[in-house]
Amino acid sequence: MLSGPWPIALANLLVNEDKPGVYVLYRDVHEPAYVGRADRDLRSRITPSAAEHRGIRWFSFEYASSALDAYQKECRYYHELLPTDNQLHPDAPTFSNGRCPVCVANTFKIILGRGGIR
Ligand SMILES: [Zn+2]
Repeated sequence: MLSGPWPIALANLLVNEDKPGVYVLYRDVHEPAYVGRADRDLRSRITPSAAEHRGIRWFSFEYASSALDAYQKECRYYHELLPTDNQLHPDAPTFSNGRCPVCVANTFKIILGRGGIR
């Protein structure tokens, strides 16, 4: 589960474990702007990522047990939160053959004639 949103200035204080994970950046606290992940070290990823997106004021985060787990969490938040700045679907870690769990579920829904989301 995501922790936050917290003020972006607190990222280096609150994210202090060297682990994979996912994060969400916000300009307005109610409007997710960007969903991203770190395959190795979430701690070193959030502040530089926020600097790439104009006007970020808030973030939330969640650690993951592995790079693949981080990817699957990133996919779930990407589909659930519909962040405004993500132009493309998240890419799987290069060393894995991970599939997005949401897209796979939607494929089955389409095959079964129930439609899907995004
Ligand atoms: Zn997907």
